[in-house]
Amino acid sequence: MSTSTLRARPRAMLAVAGLALFLLTCAAPAGAAPAGGLPAYTPDATAPRSAIPDVYKWNLTPLFASDAAWEQGRVKLLADIPALAKYEGRLGDPKVLADCLDHYFRLHGDANCLTLYANMRLTTAQTDDRAGGMRQQGQGALNELMMAASFIRREVLALSADKMALTFRDEPRLAPYRAYLENLRRRASRVLSPDAERALALLGDNLWAEIDLNEIPSPLEDCFNGALNDIPWPMVKDEQGRDVQLTLANYSVFRQSPNRAVREGAVGAFLGTLRQYQHALAASLAGQYKLDVAYARARGYKTALEAYSDKDDVSTAVYDNLLNTVEANLPLLHRYVALRKRALGLPDVHLYDLYIPLAAGVEADIPFPEARQTIIEALKPLGPAYGKVLAEGLDPRNGWLDLYPHMDKESGAYSSSVYGKHPYVKMNYQNSLDDMSTLAHEYGHALHSDLAMKAQSYPDYRYTTFLAEIASTCNEALLNDYLVARAPDDAQKAYLLVGRLEDIRTTIFRQTMFAHFERTVHGFVEQGVPVTATLLDSTYTDLVRRYYGPDYRIDANDGVEWAYIPHFYYKYYVYVYATGLCSGIAIADRVRELGPPAVDAYLAMLKGGCSEAPLTLLKGAGVDLTRPDAIAAAMRTFERTLAEVEKLTAKKK
Ligand SMILES: [Zn+2]
Repeated sequence: MSTSTLRARPRAMLAVAGLALFLLTCAAPAGAAPAGGLPAYTPDATAPRSAIPDVYKWNLTPLFASDAAWEQGRVKLLADIPALAKYEGRLGDPKVLADCLDHYFRLHGDANCLTLYANMRLTTAQTDDRAGGMRQQGQGALNELMMAASFIRREVLALSADKMALTFRDEPRLAPYRAYLENLRRRASRVLSPDAERALALLGDNLWAEIDLNEIPSPLEDCFNGALNDIPWPMVKDEQGRDVQLTLANYSVFRQSPNRAVREGAVGAFLGTLRQYQHALAASLAGQYKLDVAYARARGYKTALEAYSDKDDVSTAVYDNLLNTVEANLPLLHRYVALRKRALGLPDVHLYDLYIPLAAGVEADIPFPEARQTIIEALKPLGPAYGKVLAEGLDPRNGWLDLYPHMDKESGAYSSSVYGKHPYVKMNYQNSLDDMSTLAHEYGHALHSDLAMKAQSYPDYRYTTFLAEIASTCNEALLNDYLVARAPDDAQKAYLLVGRLEDIRTTIFRQTMFAHFERTVHGFVEQGVPVTATLLDSTYTDLVRRYYGPDYRIDANDGVEWAYIPHFYYKYYVYVYATGLCSGIAIADRVRELGPPAVDAYLAMLKGGCSEAPLTLLKGAGVDLTRPDAIAAAMRTFERTLAEVEKLTAKKK
């Protein structure tokens, strides 16, 4: 996800437009409670899309009435783009700058609509060439706009601070663009001469790609992916003793086999095979980190961490604080490993024992109307204003939701938003507890977008990646609390609690361990230490030993696990998963403990979009990630949950 962009519609108008839209698409009053009278439907991933009642499919007509209308929109956009050139070279004039930004953001909104419509069309028709073509064409139109508009950044960065202050003073129409312009200029001192900029861009530098340009994929990430795909993975035994082909896709399935010999065999075969390619994979990763450091130094940063944190307008103190606070709480993770050993009756815990369920799966059949009602109840602590929008969005008649899986639909779930319309949510809902949790998660994203879009102008509504996973995980935490409090028996309670432990283990502990690895290895490059497979292996092994503790047994090839983690190519990105979940948990705690004042502060953050720096917005919601508190709150939740699971598993014996 990229940060920022476009132009706003006045709030009153938006509300009217929303109402008109609502009346068009459904007969029920806004916020109508249970979606009663909906047709019954049993999810079937192999059914054609036409078998699903239309009410359970999203309604794309607010974007475009038809594919033909979309095509007209695309042609019109392409015809309008060249007109931007008339502003080029004239942005020193405040009035021209305001006209230019009005124009640019209007086109950006159109391009956004175009790409989102095409993406959503393809989501539900994966093998439809027409939808695939639309996606490419939509992206092409957006890229064309970005290229045509690149002079804006260049000229805005060239204005002196004094000139910029006068520009704001002289042209009140620039007020809605203040945050956008200030963010654009935030790192003006890091811009190099045009020749140097051109050279860095040719080398794939994406330190600057945050506002107008799409992220440029790193050539070394391509190299890594290619290498992984080239590796001839061996055959392994499945649960029935049959020989089956190990693949990148089925590795994680084997890794959690209830049959220990199967999972041990698969993990051993997988890591043993990676080991044979360790030098090539180490060269690829070292190459990536050398580039990261070179880009950072070219712009005068001391470290890559400093450069990539600054890109997101986040202080490096956040990174250090996360690592230090998690490290101080590692005895909790050791205690969890010890619990796994006891509960599973194992002599010791290996890598291949980490992913198997600790509590037996619970047979749950949660039809959508029930999930919807449960989520609405569970999120009541977030107050009536939140609840009202949530109920609207979860009423399938309002067209936000594409609920059920079908043949040719992309797997997984996501939420997208189109400014001035409403958010959209893709699900593959199949009546499980996990599905209900995913639904609550995606509606966290959707409501974040909805609240921000109603409160902010187009350039300021889109929240940054750094804040992206807070609303989603806060919803999940509140839902989990609600379900635990009402669990009908110990088995279901244990299942839910272990789910929470695993979330924290994989999202906070594991991603922080990755973040630790990333900082250490970038540090080697920065100190001129040659990065070899042996060094990567020992660095990774040391971390695993520290993180998982005395009951964890490290096998010969475990240290090579670094070699297949794509996140190491994401340039200081993984820690955001951990800070997101910590913040989500900390906010859920505050809402529970402090009630309405905490809710108001939280909603203000959601409504803030990207109108201020992410850490400032988050501080407003009561979470200061430069201090240990929020991370410590997540650790306390882990400890509390662990104690409950320890009690439940002891009782079972
Ligand atoms: Zn998410």
